[in-house]
Amino acid sequence: MSDIIKLLPDSVANQIAAGEVIQRPASVIKELVENSVDAGATEISLTILDAGKTLIQIVDNGTGMSETDVRMAFERHATSKIRKADDLFHLRSMGFRGEALPSICAISEVEVRTRTDENPLGTHLVIEASKVKMQEACAAERGTVISVKRLFFNVPARRKFLKSDSVELSNIMREFERLALVNHNLRMSIDTGSKTISLRPGTFRQRIEEIWKNSLKSEHLLPVNTDTRLVKIEGFISRPEFARRRNPLQYLIVNGRNMRHPYFHKAIMNCYDQLIAPGTQPCYFLMFTVDPDTIDVNIHPTKNEIKFENEQEIWPILTSAVKLSLGRFSAVPSIDFNSDTVEIQPLRGGEVPTEPRISFNPDYNPFLESAKEHKNIDSRYRPTKVESNWQSLYEGLPSSRQSEGASQEQSVPADDLQSAIFDQNEIQAGITPICLQYSLKYIITTSHDGLMIIDQHRAHVKILYEDYLKRTGNSSIVSQTLMFPETVSLDESQQAALAEVQDDLAGLGFNVEYSDGTDWQIMSAPAMLKPHDIRDVLLRILDSVTEDSANYGNEQLSSTTLREKAALIMARSGAIRRGVRLTVKEMEDLTSRLFSLPDPMLTPNGNKVYTILSEQQIGRLFDSAAIL
Ligand code: ADP
Ligand code: MG
Repeated sequence: MSDIIKLLPDSVANQIAAGEVIQRPASVIKELVENSVDAGATEISLTILDAGKTLIQIVDNGTGMSETDVRMAFERHATSKIRKADDLFHLRSMGFRGEALPSICAISEVEVRTRTDENPLGTHLVIEASKVKMQEACAAERGTVISVKRLFFNVPARRKFLKSDSVELSNIMREFERLALVNHNLRMSIDTGSKTISLRPGTFRQRIEEIWKNSLKSEHLLPVNTDTRLVKIEGFISRPEFARRRNPLQYLIVNGRNMRHPYFHKAIMNCYDQLIAPGTQPCYFLMFTVDPDTIDVNIHPTKNEIKFENEQEIWPILTSAVKLSLGRFSAVPSIDFNSDTVEIQPLRGGEVPTEPRISFNPDYNPFLESAKEHKNIDSRYRPTKVESNWQSLYEGLPSSRQSEGASQEQSVPADDLQSAIFDQNEIQAGITPICLQYSLKYIITTSHDGLMIIDQHRAHVKILYEDYLKRTGNSSIVSQTLMFPETVSLDESQQAALAEVQDDLAGLGFNVEYSDGTDWQIMSAPAMLKPHDIRDVLLRILDSVTEDSANYGNEQLSSTTLREKAALIMARSGAIRRGVRLTVKEMEDLTSRLFSLPDPMLTPNGNKVYTILSEQQIGRLFDSAAIL
C-alpha cells in the first residue's frame, strides 16, 4: 500500500486550531485585547458590528509591528513572546502560543494597520482565509488597528453554531468586563452600535465600581488582603446578605490573567457556608500574585485554566483571608451579648441587617440577683390567640388585603392544616404555641410532632411567591405608577430580553418605556415591591430571560414560566431576610400564613421551609451526650 499520511496545508491546520481558540466573537476579543496588552498599550478601544459577526475592530497605542513582523505574526506558532520551552515557566505575557492571529485569519477577513516608533511609515496588510491579499506601506498612528470582518464566513457550520445576536453580544460584554477588570490601569472602551462603555484608568476597586455601577454598590463589598511567601491575595468579596441566585459576579485573577479555578471557588464558597441561603452565591473579585514559575498556564488553548504548584497550601491561606474579612467587617450577623432577652424591633420587611453590634457587658453575672430582672421572659412571649394580622408584613402594599380572601379560598383551609400540625389541645384552647426567634434566622415553635424549626426567610419567600402567583393568575395584580420614573440602563442582551417579554411584563405590573440611548424608564411597577428593589427585580427578570434563551435557544419564553420566574424573583427580593429580628406577632403571622398554604414544606425550588425534631430525636441527643 502506498504511503497515505500527508501533512495538512497550513490553512487547514489553522482552521482546526481556530476551532479550539476561537469559539465565538467574544474569543476574538479576548485574544486581540491580550495582544494589545502584551504590546504595552495604555489605551484600547473596540468597535463591534452585528455582535461581532460583521466587524470586530481593535485600536491600540502599543508598540506596533514592523513590516516583517506583521507578516510573521500571521504564521502558525510565530510569537515574539517566548524563544525556548523553558520560557513557558517564566511567563510574563498573556500570549505565548502564537496561535491567535493565524487562527483568526483562517476563518475571517483581517485588515491590519500598524506602525512602530522607529518607522515613519506603517504597514497595511489584508489577509483573507489565511491568504495575503494585499500589503503596502501606509500612513498610520503608532500602534495597531486590527479589523476582523465576516467572522466564520468560510466555516458555515461554525457560523450556524453561533447564538442569537443578543446572546453573542452579551458574551462579548462579559468578556470585555473580564478584560477590563484585569487591566484596570488601562483606558478601555467598547462601542457595540447600541451601547458604549468608556472606562478610565483606575484602581481595581474603581474599575469594579465603574463596570458594575448598575448592579453593585460599594457598600456591598468587603476588602480581602493577605500577603504570604507563597501568594498575595487581594481584592473584594461581597457581604453575605448580597449573595445572588443569578449571575453572581465571580472573578479570579492570577498574575493579571483571568482564570477558572473550581478548587479555589470551592474554598471561597465554603467560607460562606451557613451565611447565605442555599442556591445563592456571593460575588468575589480576587487577584492572586504568585511566582510565575509556580503556575502552568499552558494547559488549555484559551489559557484560562491554570495549574498551581502550591494549590493545597494556597487553600488555607485563601480560606483564612476570606473568613477574616467576613469576620473583621462583621458581615456575620451575631447576637447582641449586651442584652440577654431577645430584643424585638419592628419589622422592616426585606431590610438588610445593619452593622451588628458585637459587644458584651463585662458586669453581667447570671448568678447575681439583679440579673434575674433581665431574665424575666418578655410578656410578648405569652401564648396568644392566633389571629391573622398578616397585613403587617405587607405594610404599604395596597392590594394585599383584597386578595387575601381569594388566596385562602383556593388553598387547603388554614384551620385543617394547622390542626394537623399543631397540638390539638392548644388549638382548641385558642392558644398557639410560643414562637421564639433563634439566631435571627429561625422561628422555633412546638408542633404535634415535635419541636418545629422554621426558616424565616424561606417561609416568607414561599408565602409571597404563592400570593404573587395567585394575584397575577387572576389579574388582581396592582401596579403603582412611579412618581419619579426610574431610569435603568440596559445592555444589548437585556434590551433584547425586554423586547421579548415587554407585554407579559406589563401584565405583571411593570411598564417600561424607551428613553434614550441605552436608557429605559420604569413608569410603573408591581405595588408589592419596595421602591429600592424595583430596578433590581426588573434586571433580574430580564437576566433570567436572557439566560433561558442562552440555555434553550431562542424559543419564546412562555408567559406562565415568566410569571413563575417573576414571582420567585419578587418573592425573594421582598421576603424577610435572615438577620432581621421579628416580633412575636410577626412570627405567629408568618407561621399561621405558611400553614394555610397547600404545601408549606418546600420552597418553589424545593428547599425545606421547616423541619421537626421529634421528642425521640431530642431524647437521643441527650443519650449520646451521656455516653460522651
Ligand atoms: P501570541 O500572542 O501567542 O504571541 P498571536 O498570534 O496572538 O500570538 O500574536 C503573534 C504575534 O504578533 C505576537 O507575538 C506579537 O509579537 C504580534 N502582535 C499581535 N498583536 C499585536 C499588537 N496589537 N501590537 C503589537 N504586536 C502584536
Ligand atoms: Mg496573542
